[in-house]
Amino acid sequence: MPMIARNNGKRLLFCVILAHEARNSTLVFPAADSFMNRRRKIYEGKAKILFEGPEPGTLVQYFKDDATAGNGAKHEVIDGKGVLNNRISEFVFSKLNDLGIPTHFLRRINMREQLIKEVEIIPLEVIVRNVAAGSLAKRLGLEPGTRLPRSIIEFCYKDDALGDPMVSEEHITAFGWATPAELDDIMSLAVRINDFLTGLFMGVGIQLIDFKIECGRLYEGDMMRIVLADEISPDNCRLWDIKTRTKMDKDRFREGLGGLVENYREVAQRLGILVENDNALTTGPRLVQ
Ligand code: UDP
Repeated sequence: MPMIARNNGKRLLFCVILAHEARNSTLVFPAADSFMNRRRKIYEGKAKILFEGPEPGTLVQYFKDDATAGNGAKHEVIDGKGVLNNRISEFVFSKLNDLGIPTHFLRRINMREQLIKEVEIIPLEVIVRNVAAGSLAKRLGLEPGTRLPRSIIEFCYKDDALGDPMVSEEHITAFGWATPAELDDIMSLAVRINDFLTGLFMGVGIQLIDFKIECGRLYEGDMMRIVLADEISPDNCRLWDIKTRTKMDKDRFREGLGGLVENYREVAQRLGILVENDNALTTGPRLVQ
């Protein structure tokens, strides 16, 4: 069992348990099965499950420990990943909400779940790139790590059977996946999120190489607006340590490098989300010298 410091207020106890869970791959709390039968499942994806929420217009987003790559060809369960992604995504979405960048996030419920607003997901993966890596580096023959002339936005059509093909704005508007006005909103959301994330991670010694977001339509009365949905975590960002160039994201799994949970935990610790040891509490991003 984890040690509990003398000053054992609720918050400290919570952080101690969280730190303990994230550190011990054998201890997973709460058990995934306990959630499965409790509520009506709306949708199950590769890394998350959506359940009916407690009130109309809300859903519960549950973070699984499953890691997949190559459109599901490679699959593993990595104890502790879901808990870390839930916390990292909560941190990022809360900050974005505070900045007035609209998201579906309401609040975190527990270690693996968050309460979100129900939105109509736009079937696009919106990828923002600052540095060449992954499929862009391959496609254009660029050396991974090369800074791009400017940040670039790409779109993929979300369809597992087709392998999420890359599409252009022409495809998107011609097939009606989003209107031109919605695409404008999506792109300006993506640019603002890129600016925020780049600065956030740079402050803790991490370079934001690229990331993927998903957006949804939020209906409020007669009004509809585009909001950020899904998650932002090391599962859908490329994050490199600025000094050592260590990969601190899902490429550790994709490339079989190992140490995924350790690196996600390091990201969480640097952001000040996780305690560094059982007696320390941090409240915000930590500067890395
Ligand atoms: N990405 C994602 N989900 C996907 C595909 C990509 O979250 O299904 C993220 C990925 O983690 C990276 C960015 O989008 O941060 C760009 O990925 P890329 O197109 O290079 O694809 P990959 O090399 O991952 O196949």
